Amino acid sequence: MSEKINIRGVYFDNVNMDEAMQTVKSMIDTDVFSYMFTPNSEIVQSCIENPELYEVINSASLVIPDGIGVVYASKILKTPLKEKVPGCEVAEKIMQYAAKTGDGVFFFGGGKKCEERDAVSVIAAEKMKEKYPGLNVVGTRDGYFTNDDVPSIIDEINASGAKILFVCLGAPKQEKWIYENRDALKVNFAAGLGGTLDVFAGIAKRAPEFFLKTNLEWFYRLLCMPTRLGRMMKLPKFLFGTIINKNKGFDNK
Ligand code: UDP
Repeated sequence: MSEKINIRGVYFDNVNMDEAMQTVKSMIDTDVFSYMFTPNSEIVQSCIENPELYEVINSASLVIPDGIGVVYASKILKTPLKEKVPGCEVAEKIMQYAAKTGDGVFFFGGGKKCEERDAVSVIAAEKMKEKYPGLNVVGTRDGYFTNDDVPSIIDEINASGAKILFVCLGAPKQEKWIYENRDALKVNFAAGLGGTLDVFAGIAKRAPEFFLKTNLEWFYRLLCMPTRLGRMMKLPKFLFGTIINKNKGFDNK
């Protein structure tokens, strides 16, 4: 068990990438359902604004800091997290691991099939199978559905025999979905992974190396998608809030 660090009421595991992967592998190899969330500052700010979200996010067995904002906040609070552990990079390492073990993987989320292309989850599966021979993608499902569809989606996932489930519906929809359906899912391991299938499918690109190294990935995403500005305003709000409230302590567990 890793040390938990409380960042504004969200309990992060203080792990580096290697340690996160060790935990993920043992979760995949254990026949009990467990899940990982990868909150960034936007999600922590969402928890602050909608406190019922704390229970959802903190219910995960592994909570890793997906953004540099969370790591800065941990330093401001004088309980530093080791490093940023991007969910997208963990997802890639899970693909490498699953290709070796042959464990079944299910991709749930992303855009539907349309005239120009297949569903994002289908393209992501094809691209990953090409990249990692031996990868066993046992099912895919797009991320657009109604509440009435949920039981059949769960049946489809369970019948696929997948051990690993990626839920990519954007935050906090994916976290709520996993939390609400945690007793019905028969996989060993699930993770909420935002736009990862878009990246796997080659539809969204990660930022160039310069932006990753200088912790400016968020700025690159903003340049590519200025419509994200509203959402991104949560980042400065979160950091200023952390500075202003740093002596108060946060306990929302
Ligand atoms: N998405 C989905 N169903 C929805 C809403 C969104 O499958 O009802 C998908 C969307 O197509 C995209 C991903 O969820 O692939 C969200 O990506 P984003 O980069 O916004 O994730 P976040 O930044 O929230 O982690």
